[in-house]
Amino acid sequence: MFDQKCACGAPATVVSDGPARCWKCVGEEIKDRRKQILEGKVKWGNWDYNPSNLTIGHKNGYYIDLERCSDSASILDWIAQVSGKSKMFTHEDVGHLVRALDDIIGLQERICGNGTDTDKPFDAKNELKPKS
Ligand SMILES: [Zn+2]
Repeated sequence: MFDQKCACGAPATVVSDGPARCWKCVGEEIKDRRKQILEGKVKWGNWDYNPSNLTIGHKNGYYIDLERCSDSASILDWIAQVSGKSKMFTHEDVGHLVRALDDIIGLQERICGNGTDTDKPFDAKNELKPKS
């Protein structure tokens, strides 16, 4: 299992979830994906992130303002809003939105880890600035 090699030539340490990779390359992948997300280049089903106004928009025109996603309750409120509009959004839309919020904000790391609300409100303007 661990005698596989990463594309870079190093011994692979991660063999699940796609081709075998070393930790260094996995770290690079995570950094690259983060960059793609913050630049608005990642899609979640019908949703995408717009870095110019810090929103997650659905192709039907509905959008979620990440500047109003500061804590568990405000984020859950958006999810419930979308979930409640069953004529506008499919089950898949709701699922993709949760994935988008998790990818963009990092829900357990930043907002609700161990079932505890963060004591530092999420600040989209500062925390979603793309790092160069
Ligand atoms: Zn590698």
